[in-house]
Amino acid sequence: MFDLKQFEFWFIVGSQDLYGEETLRQVAEHARIMADEFDRDPVIPGRVVLKPVAKSPEGIRKLFEEANAASACAGIITWMHTFSPSKMWIGGLGINKKPILHLHTQFNRDIPWADIDMDFMNLNQSAHGDREHGYIYARMRLPRKVVAGFWQDPEVRRRMAVWIRAAAARRDGEHSVVLRLGDNMREVAVTEGDKVEAQIKFGWQVNTWGIGDLAERFRAVSDGDAEKLTAEYEAAYDLAPDLRKPGKGRAARTEQAKIEIALSGMLEAEHAGAFTTNFQDLHGLPQLPGLACQRLMEKGFGFGGEGDWKQSMLVRAAKVMAAGLPGGVSFMEDYTYHFEPGREAALGAHMLEVCPTIAAEKPRIEVHPLGIGGKVDPARLVFDAAPGPAVLATLVDLGGRLRMIVNEIETIKIEKAMPKLPVARALWKPYPTMREAAESWIIAGGAHHSAYSSALNVAYFRDWAEMSGIEFVLIGRDTKPERLRDELRWGEAYWSGRLT
Ligand code: MN
Repeated sequence: MFDLKQFEFWFIVGSQDLYGEETLRQVAEHARIMADEFDRDPVIPGRVVLKPVAKSPEGIRKLFEEANAASACAGIITWMHTFSPSKMWIGGLGINKKPILHLHTQFNRDIPWADIDMDFMNLNQSAHGDREHGYIYARMRLPRKVVAGFWQDPEVRRRMAVWIRAAAARRDGEHSVVLRLGDNMREVAVTEGDKVEAQIKFGWQVNTWGIGDLAERFRAVSDGDAEKLTAEYEAAYDLAPDLRKPGKGRAARTEQAKIEIALSGMLEAEHAGAFTTNFQDLHGLPQLPGLACQRLMEKGFGFGGEGDWKQSMLVRAAKVMAAGLPGGVSFMEDYTYHFEPGREAALGAHMLEVCPTIAAEKPRIEVHPLGIGGKVDPARLVFDAAPGPAVLATLVDLGGRLRMIVNEIETIKIEKAMPKLPVARALWKPYPTMREAAESWIIAGGAHHSAYSSALNVAYFRDWAEMSGIEFVLIGRDTKPERLRDELRWGEAYWSGRLT
């Protein structure tokens, strides 16, 4: 669904006129070789586009004006091959609206011990030029990512790719609409939030449509179109035995196909990248969209249950970041704990809506009653999440600012059958321990809803939060709840000072 090659990353190499024509020619040549290699490297998604060597305040300002106006430009990579006095950069950086990666590297890997002379030193002086460049970001308090190391080192490329994916998700967000079907679940606090602030920070347009619009589209879907889609289901998933023959189960499955077609059409018409539903607001629909939501998440749409638009957009952002990577991304909810000493774990699921991209095996379509909402038994995909490292990320609105909380987890195999729980589920051990992770998450005000990803690690979310200008809280292997509580209190002072 996402072609990350649609996003451009402008490579701006800094220098100055002082060096003379020959040195500047070599700077430009090295920049070209590097940009070409970055652009061709399959690890680096997106296009890397070389720009003219930055040599003067006017030229630098013009480059940033062009970047701001370029719709395809999702970020800027800067590197100072030589010394580029940073007062020249103030005008450009002051107006810049794109995420910045400061790549601190050097064209040659090794010092040419036998041949090194002052000409070489003057040409290859990023160890000093990039310090001048770093200072001006620090002085201007500008968000950016710094990646240091040799530019051909695979680890440097990998870290650049993380930032590039985060910037692509951010760019996607600037064009995204979250289509809210109805409002948030009544009386719930954490799914509320400042939609204006979300648009200012992320670009997300968070707007509401009546469920009646979807119901009308649902009624208009033909049986033939629904049958066609169910043939696709049969190819992609297993079927519970009662769905193999005509009856209530099959009818429920066909209804979900109609909901999927109706929802899909509505998302397309509104150019929406994400959506929410609310089981309290299903007037005109026969069942809770279960399978339909799972399918649309699988296609790349963000989803949030109970009107949770923040997590819906976060799921979308994570799906863009994870495009083409092994593993998946899903809406998730912490449900129930296992407190057996030494085997502590958390069981995550939702009423129905967990994305099959995180499944360990082929999901199975089943139809069962839902003890909530008072509608017809809904069809859903049932599976266990694949074991392995994963992360949970959530966004909460603290009033005046948004906070992202990310917990590193290890998803484990579900050893026991749960025949009476026919929903998609994930079982995980959070880091550092279940007690410390749960205490930390709760101290930080983390929601019960999150974006779950086995394709991404903490670094992606950290970069995305940094370029969005929001608070980032990590609960990882070294987290101590007592220490975290203090850090959150210090952070209050920092973030309060940034209120505008
Ligand atoms: Mn929920």
